[in-house]
Amino acid sequence: MINIKRILSFIFPTRCQYCKKVIPFGTLICNECLEKVKPQKHITNIMMESGKELTVVSPFIYEQEVKRAICDFKFNGKVEFSGHLAKSMAWVANDGYNLKDFDFVTAVPLSTKSKKVRGYNQAEILARSVAKDFSMQYIETLNKVKENKKQHTLSKKERQENVKGAYTGLEAKTVSGKQILLCDDIVTTGSTLSECAKVLYLSGAKVVCCLTAAKAVYCKQ
Ligand SMILES: [Zn+2]
Repeated sequence: MINIKRILSFIFPTRCQYCKKVIPFGTLICNECLEKVKPQKHITNIMMESGKELTVVSPFIYEQEVKRAICDFKFNGKVEFSGHLAKSMAWVANDGYNLKDFDFVTAVPLSTKSKKVRGYNQAEILARSVAKDFSMQYIETLNKVKENKKQHTLSKKERQENVKGAYTGLEAKTVSGKQILLCDDIVTTGSTLSECAKVLYLSGAKVVCCLTAAKAVYCKQ
């Protein structure tokens, strides 16, 4: 049978998401970049308002090749670039957490308006891919109800205020008593993940742990 995808790959060759070099059909990145862009366990510990500590594990620092790949994935419709990011998240989650403890994987939601504009929720794509890798369930648990300002323009304090009340839980019975792996693309100050985890805990979650593709170094006061 003729493989349409293979034929298309001759017209539109697969390119390495990091250096843009043409790579064999069916691969994600070139061997040189695979060597350079290696996942490593980065941990961010966030103190929530409730006094609970929230752990975030990420395979990359948000810089250089990874930053470009995430931006292409998020803003330029390059959904295929999520592949290596999600694989790296799964790798680091397996190293940082006891995955059999989790009941399911969930993601930080986008507002209906933002999802409509972008066409997809990048955090959901990453979360679904991680769940698939571990034969776990992906469940939508949160809703974004407030169209807030973009977090990256704000100070740490403003970020916390900006996300307050931005999320609500969908169905408490799905979450109640469960251990949940919450995914997002980037963690910076942790305000978004913290707010989402707060909603999950208020809905009765037993434990919430986080996983993101990258950790951004926060430099504003
Ligand atoms: Zn490359």
